[in-house]
Amino acid sequence: MRRKLLLSTVSALAAIVSAVPAGQQGDWTEPFPPFRIADNLYYVGSKGLANYLVTTQQGHILINSDLEANVPMIRESVEKLGYKFSDVKILLISHAHWDHDAGSAMIKQITGASYMVMEADVPVVESGGKSDFQYGSSTGSLYPPAKVDRVLHDGDEVKLGGAVLVAHLTPGHTKGCTTWTMKVKDGGKTYDAVIIGSPNVNPGYKLVDNKLYPGIAEDYERTFRVLKALPCDYFLGAHGSYFDMETKYARLKQGGASPFIDPDGYKSYVSEREQAFRKELAKQKGADR
Ligand SMILES: [Zn+2]
Repeated sequence: MRRKLLLSTVSALAAIVSAVPAGQQGDWTEPFPPFRIADNLYYVGSKGLANYLVTTQQGHILINSDLEANVPMIRESVEKLGYKFSDVKILLISHAHWDHDAGSAMIKQITGASYMVMEADVPVVESGGKSDFQYGSSTGSLYPPAKVDRVLHDGDEVKLGGAVLVAHLTPGHTKGCTTWTMKVKDGGKTYDAVIIGSPNVNPGYKLVDNKLYPGIAEDYERTFRVLKALPCDYFLGAHGSYFDMETKYARLKQGGASPFIDPDGYKSYVSEREQAFRKELAKQKGADR
């Protein structure tokens, strides 16, 4: 009787687990309508994973490749906006985690895009996630390796057809985590757009005595210094949840000023994430004594 109960519990758990594959969250592969954020900057991501398309006369820049399962969705979004997926000339990422870079090899193959990645994330993307300090040996986090065509460093510019994106090294979440900034024009004004790479300390991250990432806490410190210093009008990030994408998208239709212009939302998000980091660091330092 007891054994039977245990078995049914196990199979019920297996059913829950199989609904969402290892290393994934439900809304990551849920389609979302593509839309114009401002100027030549578009949202082409799913509900849970953010992708940005910067269009120019000389081809386009795509930020993030997501899971391999997302690639057909990204392509469809680009085409719905009236652009050709094959015109994507440059592929960038927010950081070297599978939910932002697993589809890179596939996108490179389809479009022939040049893949540009921050130096410290290069070994991770080129090993298909195997050299990641946290997730390198968890199978649900691995993906097809992709060759990097240009190695980026802090402050480097990525230019195409008049568009200029600046790569800011905001490490900690990954060693080469990148926050992208660009100028966008709207209604005759120029604005600063910031696409946050990730300020988050994931469950299980060791901030103290991390043998595979010795400088992790100092790197997070740097990230918060950088994020607090960046001028921001359009507040964006690697996941829509960072900037409440769904609520703001619903408000877009009401007209008026863009809901994505949210400097206060940016400041409070960064400050809240910094506090979360400090709390976790204090907790781990306390446990260390
Ligand atoms: Zn991540």
